[in-house]
Amino acid sequence: MAPILPPASIGILGGGQLGRMTALAARSLGYRVGVLDPDADCAARPVADRVVVARFDDVEGARALARESDVVTIEIEQIAPAALEAALEYVPVRPGADLLRVVQHRGRQKQWLADHGFPVGPYAHLDSAESLTVASRTIGPALFVKACEGGYDGRSQIRFDGSDARSAWTSLGGRPAVGEQAIDLALELSVMVARRASGEIAVYPPAVNHHEHQILAWSTLPGDVDPRVARDARDLARAIAEQLELEGLLAVEMFLARDGRLLVNELAPRPHNSYHASELACPTSQFEQLVRAVCDLPLGAPEPTRPAAIVNLLGDLWLGGRKPDFAAALAVPGTRLFLYGKHGARAGRKMGHLAAVGDSAADALTRVQRAAALL
Ligand code: ATP
Ligand code: MG
Repeated sequence: MAPILPPASIGILGGGQLGRMTALAARSLGYRVGVLDPDADCAARPVADRVVVARFDDVEGARALARESDVVTIEIEQIAPAALEAALEYVPVRPGADLLRVVQHRGRQKQWLADHGFPVGPYAHLDSAESLTVASRTIGPALFVKACEGGYDGRSQIRFDGSDARSAWTSLGGRPAVGEQAIDLALELSVMVARRASGEIAVYPPAVNHHEHQILAWSTLPGDVDPRVARDARDLARAIAEQLELEGLLAVEMFLARDGRLLVNELAPRPHNSYHASELACPTSQFEQLVRAVCDLPLGAPEPTRPAAIVNLLGDLWLGGRKPDFAAALAVPGTRLFLYGKHGARAGRKMGHLAAVGDSAADALTRVQRAAALL
């Protein structure tokens, strides 16, 4: 199949910050960009050529995007399969509906990973307070209980300590869920992999990620991990991408348990917060890589040329009318600022990030944290 060359048009389902940054990368390469998002004022709007305002399950909206595009991709996985299939009537959709169906439901995703022999921690499918009690006895007591649909940044999930199953179950709205054994974590990492229809694959080295209140706080790339763990993590991500016949990007979030097990936490078939540092660290950022992968162009080099780190900027920084001191942060050498142009800062909402390079992952992290502290 012939590559999709500029000035073709790329349609992105989702107009959040990941869509915005994909659009910027696409524009640098000379592509035109259309975006579909329920919010007419979404983060990608100022950098897109056109915006279709529609919900993620709006089949007509997906058709409208696809009709004006040469290929359609996603920046969020909660797109209704029917919308993906509608887009597919006009142009290739990468990644495709089959992959999305597996990934967008936590229960199906876990089952798929387990069925294909990929390592996941002990878990159970839950459909009632009683099933939660049983799971807590067998694989707990402490569990992370996550609704099968609709969660991100720690939403729609709770940590269950084994005591009051009924109120825990009710607090999640009584929706189907998975209960995961609470893993004693040595560290959290993620691996980004890109694959194109021809089968060519590019695997980035692992990023090391630190979460606070279940939201990513900072990330380093390449993360400082044992070379054997890094190799195993890359092999694992590559194998999952191949098994899924991925077209596009896949972020594989992993746990390294204190007992040495490397476990898959979850899959995200799109750009990922933990690879923002690829903009500074790597010859090919995750966003350019996504464009290359979905346009069936040769993939770019994923190997970092220097370490970088990012700190997320959450809405909390703006609360009470505060104005973060960006000038002070940017005075720290090697620092860059990324703001997503979102209106309406709320506690916990991702508004932007700071990034910095350094001589090592630790040095880059120290620098970017110093800059963030000046905000
Ligand atoms: P995100 O959108 O940031 O990826 P999410 O809402 O999809 O978050 P998860 O990735 O499942 O949620 O979990 C968020 C964080 O909660 C993890 O990165 C980890 O820090 C912690 N966590 C989740 N599940 C477990 C577990 N089974 N054991 C230990 N920690 C966990
Ligand atoms: Mg996660």
